[in-house]
Amino acid sequence: MTDALLDVRGLSVHFRARGGLGRNRGIVKAVDELSFAINRGESLGLVGESGCGKSTTGMAVQSLIPVTSGEIILNGTDLVTLRSGGKRAARRQVQMVFQDPTSSLNGRMTVGQILEEPLNVHAIVPARQRAQRVSDLLDSVGMPRSAAQRYPHEFSGGQQQRVAIARALAVEPSLIICDEPLAALDVSIRAQVLNLFRDLQESRGLSYLFISHDLSAVYHVADRVMVMYLGRPMELAERDTLFRGARHPYTAALLTAIPVPDPDIEQRRERVLLSGDVPSPINPPSGCVFHTRCPIARDVCRDEVPGWRNISETESPHVIACHFPTKPTAVAAALSSEDQVDAR
Ligand code: SF4
Repeated sequence: MTDALLDVRGLSVHFRARGGLGRNRGIVKAVDELSFAINRGESLGLVGESGCGKSTTGMAVQSLIPVTSGEIILNGTDLVTLRSGGKRAARRQVQMVFQDPTSSLNGRMTVGQILEEPLNVHAIVPARQRAQRVSDLLDSVGMPRSAAQRYPHEFSGGQQQRVAIARALAVEPSLIICDEPLAALDVSIRAQVLNLFRDLQESRGLSYLFISHDLSAVYHVADRVMVMYLGRPMELAERDTLFRGARHPYTAALLTAIPVPDPDIEQRRERVLLSGDVPSPINPPSGCVFHTRCPIARDVCRDEVPGWRNISETESPHVIACHFPTKPTAVAAALSSEDQVDAR
């Protein structure tokens, strides 16, 4: 028995790529055989470069795109096999916070109307209690109640993202998928929004799938972290295990690219540099998909797909897809002080 709220098993999302004049360019394997679970009250960070399949995974879990194969089990129900009525009810349990609140909030509606809409659609509270619920939602994200009468454009990007978070909370979801929720915000307010995510998780027992290319943001929110590359999982471990002892060469490269505020540490750090660009998902490399950029690739890496295996010597799994895991990466030293990375 596990306490999994979400259990994703062998998820694949493939689609046909079209070129000019509708020419068939092949099959894009945006996500391929991906498995992971999120426990109740847990936050899983999903990281990787642009195009690695993070957002596609989030949209598949939200039932926004068709799934090629696999299971997405939420609270014991496989969302993939549900028909539209059941899907709509299940979708209430999974809400999304998108990257850009300016485009995700309807500019012609007041904030109050935006927050009331999901309450109406899902008939969650009686009509006479909705105004109070809107006020409570604004309280919970640190917005003044007077915001209900105003329009999104009257607020800063950070305040708009708070409204988007309040809208996600309106239907009392068990899981919130945050897709690059800080990317469109000023650096100065990212920490405030990150802290809001953490506070809401603690006070409401929420689970997050926190998708980001920004590892330092993930560090502040995630309990566990999964690294993806070309639609496949590369490494999965508890946050501290991963940040202090990553074993996959790709994770090491991502971690050593995180800027560290201390210039002395920054100067002394060893970097793992990657050559070339991410290959096309239409024609991914054979064997280990990372072999064309891996600094320690050997012949076997071109021919054999590495298994997804647990290398942990403790009870907490540390799973990796690599024939030759590296020594724990040196980024641990750079991140060893909580003060250096704490955004509060
Ligand atoms: Fe590098 Fe080989 Fe490991 Fe792939 S399997 S990450 S190519 S060492």
